[in-house]
This record gives sequence, C-alpha cells and structure tokens, in this order.
Amino acid sequence: MRVLKPVAAVVAAVLVALLGALVLRVGPAGAAAADFGVVNDWGSGYQGQFTITNNTPARTSSWRVEFDLPAGSRVEQAWNAQQTTSGTHYTFTNLSWNGTLEPAGTASFGFTVTGSGRPTGCTVNGAACAGGATPSPTRTPTATPTRTPSPTASPTASPTASPTASPTASPAGTPVARYGQLRVCGTTMCDRTGARVQLQGISSMWLNWQSQPYAENLSALTWMRDNWRLEVFRAAMGVEPGGAYLSDPARARAQVETIIKNAVTAGVYVIVDYHAHEAQNNTAAAVAFFSDLAQRYGHLPNVIWEPYNEPLQVDWVSVLKPYHQAVLAGIRRHDPDNIAVLGTPTWSQDVDKAAASPVAGTNLMYTLHFYSCTHTTGLRAKADAALRLGLPLFVTEWGASHADGGLDGRICEPEAQAWIDWMRTNSISWTAWKLDVGNDTTNLLAPGAPVTGGWSNHLHGHAPFVVASMRD
Ligand code: MG
Repeated sequence: MRVLKPVAAVVAAVLVALLGALVLRVGPAGAAAADFGVVNDWGSGYQGQFTITNNTPARTSSWRVEFDLPAGSRVEQAWNAQQTTSGTHYTFTNLSWNGTLEPAGTASFGFTVTGSGRPTGCTVNGAACAGGATPSPTRTPTATPTRTPSPTASPTASPTASPTASPTASPAGTPVARYGQLRVCGTTMCDRTGARVQLQGISSMWLNWQSQPYAENLSALTWMRDNWRLEVFRAAMGVEPGGAYLSDPARARAQVETIIKNAVTAGVYVIVDYHAHEAQNNTAAAVAFFSDLAQRYGHLPNVIWEPYNEPLQVDWVSVLKPYHQAVLAGIRRHDPDNIAVLGTPTWSQDVDKAAASPVAGTNLMYTLHFYSCTHTTGLRAKADAALRLGLPLFVTEWGASHADGGLDGRICEPEAQAWIDWMRTNSISWTAWKLDVGNDTTNLLAPGAPVTGGWSNHLHGHAPFVVASMRD
C-alpha cells in the first residue's frame, strides 16, 4: 500500500469524510434499497453511482431505479444499466448480467451528469426509495452541497488561481516520486539524477468518444499503475469532432483537469494531448488552451504537453513549425521546463522532416506513431535516421494492428515485438492506444469492464501484448 505524504493524507482524509457525508441512503423500499453517492465532482458536473441491494430473503431477477434531475442538469453517460429518458425523468434498468440479486446481493450502475443537480424523487422497483416518503426531504444538510473540495478544479476556475493550490507531493514509491522532474537528454529523457528514463503507459480513447469515463477514474488509474506498471497516462482530448473541445470546451477541459489531478494523486506522468488533425486551422484556440493549463499546472513534474496529435500531410516548415512555435510560446510563458512532444506530418510519421528542421527550444521531443500491421522496417529506418540527427522521440500512440486501429481484428504481434525491442534499445517512451471497450483490436477492454479498474479478466484485442510489454 502506498504511503501518503502528510499533506496528501490530510486531503485524502477530508475527501473521504466529505464523500462519505454525501452518500445518501434512499432505501429500503421493501424489495430493494438504493444508495446514491457522488464519486467525483468537477464543479460543472459530477459522476454519480447507485447501488441496489436486495433486502428480501429471496433471489430477485430484475431492478429498476427512477429519479428526476432538476432543470439545467442532465445525464451525459451511463454504464452498467439501460437508460431511458423522458424530459427530466430518468429510468435505469438492469442489464442481462446484473439483474439477478441473491439475498443481500448488490448491483450498481454509474453515470455522469452535466450540471450540479442531484437526483430527486428516487424510486426503486416502483416504490419510493425512502420507504414511501418522498426521498428528497430525507436528505440531511450534509447531503446538499453541490460540490466537494475535490482536487478536480472547475473548468471555470480562475486562471489566476495560485498554482500552489494544486497538490504537488507524489506518493512514495510512485513513478513521479522515483523520477521527479523530467528533461530531455540526447534523444531520450532523463530523471532528476540524470539517469535515462523510458516511460511506458497507455492512452485514453478520444475523451469525447469514450464508451464510459474510464480515463477520468482515479481507481482505474491507480489499478493500472499497481497491476500493469503504468507510469504515464495520455489524456487524448478530442478537438474537432462535434462534442469535443471546440464545441464543448468546458466539458473537455474538465475531463483533462480531472485526469491531471488524478495523475498527481496517483504519482504518475500525464500527457495532455490536443487530439486534433487540423489544429493549424485554429491555432489561437490551441495557444489559449495550453497557455491556461501551463499557468495552472506547469509547475507539476507530472505534466507532459502534446500540442498536436496527428497532423495530416501538411508541410512541416511552413505550417507545423509556426503552429508549434506559437503554442510553445504560450506554454513557456508560464512553464519554462516541462517536456513538450511535437506532432509531425503524416499522422506523426515524418520525423525525418522534423529532424531536418527542428523547433528551437529546450525539452522538446517529437511524436512518432506506429501500427505494426501497417508500419514496419521502413518507418523504423526513418526514425533511426531522425535519431542519428539527434531528434528526441516519444511514441504517444502505437498498436499491434493496422493503422485504422484494427477494424479487421488482426493483431501483428511479431512486428509489434520488433517495435517494442527497438523502443527499449533507444529508450523511447510510449503510450499504447487505447483505453476503451469496442470491437477494433486496439480497444484494451472487453465488454463489462468496470470503470474503476480490476480488468484482469477484461483484456481485449492487443491488450495482453500491451500489458505484458508494460510489465516487462
Ligand atoms: Mg514546469
């Protein structure tokens, strides 16, 4: 068990106490009880959970929880239950695998809400959750605060807030406690003592397209750290699609800030990835985003900046270099030293073009992506040439699949092993694509994988290879 530094321990104790106070008993109701709790609160929204308990002496075969949310609040995503919505009224019923409850057995489902309104008028299996009374009056005063002093800041938090407001102590024994502030040395990175470091970890799904909020879950992150030896997690914040950063900036930024603060609590590194394909078309948005985050999080040793995931086939010198220079200027105004990993042309494959004309500055690395059914010795030769010219590389995405993420279900493990060996030889850090459930082979998780981790029996696609490589 990890040892918390005193400050972190106090913060954790306060959080536990407040979250405990927020747990709201809304049953029993004869056949079942339903407990509601807030798992995480980021000011403009929260993650909630209901736990249903079978209070009868007999097995039950189904459950149904209904509640209302006040105007201005809505459920965005739900998991482990079937959701139907009618205006402000929400109904959640069991799925095929979690409807049967033994006596005293429990099932739970979770959801994220935009807005701060909590459920009211809860019923479970048609009876008022509080045993006939309207549930909401049974709330104690401690159940009514709409936000906790969670380390997850509101996305509307003042950019002028003191950077020291964020926790900075890394729990003993964690990757960040071990390596500290990273810097570029030669073509790799070094820790605070000057020793070479190769970080290994995984990337989130596009945050706007996750099937469940896996990326924002602290329990999942610490589970991956302790069971997969994950050292770095990449927050792939989608930018251009509908619902991503440009159309819903508050939600996207809240997700990223939750992930940053979870990484601090867990003592792992976190890559803030502007997951875009045409970011140069709105450079100002990227400059504003990174400048704001650098001001508030640039003092943390955990943070690595990735200003542009995968540019398309655009010119390095005339298009991408000016973009990176503009974003870096915004970052370096507030954060002089954290590593930034710069996207390269052709979906971050043309590292040779960056090597021929690198961006001026310190602690800069360059992005290389590979998918082993598509990219083989030719791309490694290109990367070798870039390394010989002194270009520091970081593989922020890879898959043992075709470049489409593995739609055909194929896994090319021998070639992926060649890449893993090459990265180890060259001390090149990596994060594998991607933490989500889905059909293509780069989805690491199988259906039913809980949001909170514990995935030993839920690995999918190339996940067994990725996890074995991370542990090796
Ligand atoms: Mg810094």
